[in-house]
Amino acid sequence: MSGLPEGSPSPSVQSLSRMLAGAERVVAFTGAGISTESGIPDFRSPGGIWTRYDPRDFTFDRYVADPEVRANSWAMRRAFFATHARPNAAHQALVELEVAGRLAGVVTQNIDGLHQEAGSRHVIEIHGTAREITCIGALPVDGAPDGCGFTAPHTWALEQIDAGVEDPRCPDCGGLVKSATISFGQQMPLDAVRRAQAEVAACDLLLVVGSSLQVYPAAALPGEARQHGAQVVIVNDEPTDLDGLAHLVVRGRAGEVLTAAVAGIGSDTLG
Ligand SMILES: [Zn+2]
Repeated sequence: MSGLPEGSPSPSVQSLSRMLAGAERVVAFTGAGISTESGIPDFRSPGGIWTRYDPRDFTFDRYVADPEVRANSWAMRRAFFATHARPNAAHQALVELEVAGRLAGVVTQNIDGLHQEAGSRHVIEIHGTAREITCIGALPVDGAPDGCGFTAPHTWALEQIDAGVEDPRCPDCGGLVKSATISFGQQMPLDAVRRAQAEVAACDLLLVVGSSLQVYPAAALPGEARQHGAQVVIVNDEPTDLDGLAHLVVRGRAGEVLTAAVAGIGSDTLG
C-alpha cells in the first residue's frame, strides 16, 4: 500500500521505535483502550456488561445511601470478573520495555489489574483497583472514604454474598465495604495522583496508550510532561482531543502498535 516491504512497520511505528530507543526514562499512561483487546469494553462504548450496569449510576453517595445500589455494584463486579479477561500483547510489550530497563513505570486509569497480571512491577492505579475491596466507614461524607483500613481480595465480598449475607460489612468495624475503585463522586486518591504526576514530571517520554484523555487528571498529564521537557506520544485507535499536543500520534490497535514498536527498537539501535 505504501510501498514498504511486506511486514515492515509503518513510518509512525518506526518513529515510535526510534523515540523509545532514544529515551532514558519512559513512562506509560494507559486507559481503557489498552484493555479492550482483552475483552474489557470501554464503558463509553455500546455492548457488554455496561449495557446492564452503567457505572455512572453508581455514584459514591448513592452507594453509601442505598443497599440496592450496593447489591447491584457487587453483581456488576461479579459480571466483570466472569469475563476472565487476560493481559494482551499491549500489556506484554510494556512488561518487555520495563524488563529491558527502558520503562520507569505505568500510570493507569484502568481498574482491571491486567498490567500487574502481565508482570509490570511499577504500576500506579489512579482510579483504584477492582481486585480488592476496602472498608469505607459507616457513614462517609463528601465522597471521602473514612474506613478503618480493612482490605481484602474482591472475592471476599462475593463469598459473603454467596453465603447469604445481603449487604457485606467490614468484619473489623462494621462499616460499609466497597470495591477499591474510584466511583463517580468519590475523591481521587491524592497519593496515587501525586505519585503519577511525579512520574510524569520525571520522564523524558510519555507514552499514552488507549486513553481518550477526556477526564482529569488524565487530561492534564500530556501538558505537564511537555512543560517538563518530555516528548509525548499518543497511541490510540481514534483521535483524542490532545493529539495536537503530541510529538507523535500513532493510530492503531494498542497490541499491534506496541508489539511492533518494541520489536523495532533492537534493529533500530543497531542502525
Ligand atoms: Zn472497617
